[in-house]
Amino acid sequence: MTIEKTFSIVKPDAVKRNLIGAIYQRFENAGLKIVAAKMLQLTKIQAQGFYAEHEGKPFFDELVDFMISGPVMVQVLEGEDAIVRYRELMGKTNPQEAACGTIRADFAISLRYNSVHGSDSPVSAEREIGYFFAADELCPRS
Ligand code: ADP
Ligand code: MG
Repeated sequence: MTIEKTFSIVKPDAVKRNLIGAIYQRFENAGLKIVAAKMLQLTKIQAQGFYAEHEGKPFFDELVDFMISGPVMVQVLEGEDAIVRYRELMGKTNPQEAACGTIRADFAISLRYNSVHGSDSPVSAEREIGYFFAADELCPRS
C-alpha cells in the first residue's frame, strides 16, 4: 500500500457545463482526498509548457486553445495508489472507449473535450503538481 499524490485538472468543457461538483464527488466517492485546489485561467504559455510532451503532435495547437478557452480547476488528489486509481476513475482518453461509470464515459464530449486530466506516472505527478502548486499550498489530511 502506497499513499500517493496525483495531479488533476477539471478542463474548460466541464467547468463551463457546471460539472465541478459532480466531478469532485467522483473523487471523494473513490476515496481520493483533495489536498489542494484552485481555479485558474491558463495562459497560452502555461498550457503549452504543461503539455510540452505533446508538442509537434497534430492535436497540440487545438489542445492548447481548448485548455485556455475558459477557467479550469487544478487539484492535487491523495490516496492509496492514487496515480493509477485516478487514471482508472477517469477512463480512457477517448470517451467512446472509456468504461461505463468512468468520469470520461459519463461527462466527456469528445476525444479533445474530455473533461479531466490526470497524471500518468509518479514522475509526471511530481512535475505536474510542482507546475501549479508550491509545497506550502498542499494541506496534509489524515
Ligand atoms: P490523457 O489526457 O488521457 O493522458 P494524452 O496525454 O494522450 O491523454 O493527451 C492529452 C490530451 O490531448 C487528451 O486528454 C485530449 O484532451 C487531447 N488529445 C489527445 N489525443 C488527441 C487526438 N488524437 N485528437 C484530439 N485531441 C487529443
Ligand atoms: Mg496524458
